[in-house]
Amino acid sequence: MIDFTATRDLLFIDGTWMSSAGGSTIDIVSPGTGETIGRVPSAGPSDVNIAVDAARTALESTAWGGLDGGGRAAVMRRFADALEARADLRARTVSTTNGMPISIARGSEATAPVELLRYYADLAEAGETEEKRPRVRPLPTSATGGSILIQKEPVGVIAAIAPWNYPAVLSMFKIAPALAAGCTIVLKPSPETSLDGYVLADAAIEASLPPGVLNIVNGGADVGSRLVSHPGVDKVAFTGSTGAGQSIGEVCGRLLRPATLELGGKSAAIVLDDADVDAVIAGLLSTSLLNSGQTCYMSTRILLPDSRYEEFRDRIVEAVEAMRVGDPLDPSTQLGPLVSERQRERVRSLVALGLREGATLLTGGGVPDGAGDGFFVEPTVFEGLETDSTLAREEIFGPVLTLFRCDTTDHAIRIANDSKYGLGGVVWTTDIDRGIEVASRVQSGSVGINGYSLDWGSPFGGIKNSGLGKELGPEGLEAYYRSKTIFLPL
Ligand code: NAD
Repeated sequence: MIDFTATRDLLFIDGTWMSSAGGSTIDIVSPGTGETIGRVPSAGPSDVNIAVDAARTALESTAWGGLDGGGRAAVMRRFADALEARADLRARTVSTTNGMPISIARGSEATAPVELLRYYADLAEAGETEEKRPRVRPLPTSATGGSILIQKEPVGVIAAIAPWNYPAVLSMFKIAPALAAGCTIVLKPSPETSLDGYVLADAAIEASLPPGVLNIVNGGADVGSRLVSHPGVDKVAFTGSTGAGQSIGEVCGRLLRPATLELGGKSAAIVLDDADVDAVIAGLLSTSLLNSGQTCYMSTRILLPDSRYEEFRDRIVEAVEAMRVGDPLDPSTQLGPLVSERQRERVRSLVALGLREGATLLTGGGVPDGAGDGFFVEPTVFEGLETDSTLAREEIFGPVLTLFRCDTTDHAIRIANDSKYGLGGVVWTTDIDRGIEVASRVQSGSVGINGYSLDWGSPFGGIKNSGLGKELGPEGLEAYYRSKTIFLPL
């Protein structure tokens, strides 16, 4: 039973609610029950045009473009307050529409966007956008050698494209630094989680964001690709699958348009022979199965030391079997359903492929009892896979773990790095120095030691097929500035 409005008729563009000229709609489905619970309009080409034009006008307006860092910070803090007032609604909206357990949604979707806005508001307020540098190559005409002025200016209109797995957090990874830099945004949420965009828009209205600073166009890949190639867009910030990221990268390459691409992963947990088995088990859900494995940085390949393989394997299987799978809105649920029937079928077909590839199924693989019409799969653990098998190499994006036996630490690092991806990873050890040494050798944008938890103040992003560019931290803000050099005469 939902207790919020799940059908909306209008789009949030230019600070107001507008009818869509698109003519088609998106069904909102609850993955916990399989029911269609609402409907929203999908944006048409002219809606995208109006949204981009509104963002351009806002960029050049005195109400937004005329603000300094302190002025933008004040708007961002009002926006954060309005979102904080909707924290519970936001958690329930996301949990209902993508199946994320409500306990996770409360700790991430409800709170992180508020924290991100406040973090970047502080940077906007404190940041210098002008720097005078002495010339390294002095002007022959200048007694002092001369100097140069470097100005930072907002990149401009941002096309922000978000996935469904953490819709509120991952859209704010883009919106908060973009606002801090003075950019304006056209956000395209994932169709599955379109309703979250309405909570965001309601907060933007309450916070009196100047019209056009944030616009939201609902739709699928067609609306996304229209936005990416729109002549009025200055930069694309994308989070999603590697395939879609590659297509977007090709378009941006042709248009010479900057793009930040946060893509897929297939990270590894390296368990060293001195690891504390209880710590590994306590961290298993958050490092390898969070949101039913639908978290980009999950370490779903678990590399165990030969000398303690059976001990770790048996405890992992026992822990996975004890995980509570169920209604995402139940606070005791640890694993909810997958986001859609399509995603569930994809995961099930990869599980079947794993069996054909000769893996041994240690637990799971099916649909849990009592799943009804919800899109549930059992958490699943495999062993005995070849490292070059599909299941060992492809991102599954479901609750499926594969265990590997490693003779030495070097062997484990070799397997970890034998991947086209490079997003996250974990090293489990009781010797932190040894953990740092191993983490330094892992080819990945980020690695945790005895756990993995993002921090807003430090850069996050993948290497290899996991993406291009960084989000979060001051590095994430720099991506929304461009620099101008003014050569001074004196
Ligand atoms: P997806 O690529 O199917 O879709 C992501 C978004 O892009 C959606 O809004 C979609 O409508 C849009 N889109 C799809 N094709 C497009 C195109 N050609 N042009 C423009 N827009 C397009 O991904 P998904 O299934 O929503 O999300 C899951 C994927 O996201 C996984 O691969 C996961 O690893 C990845 N992900 C990465 C990170 C990260 O930070 N690296 C974080 C979360 C999720």
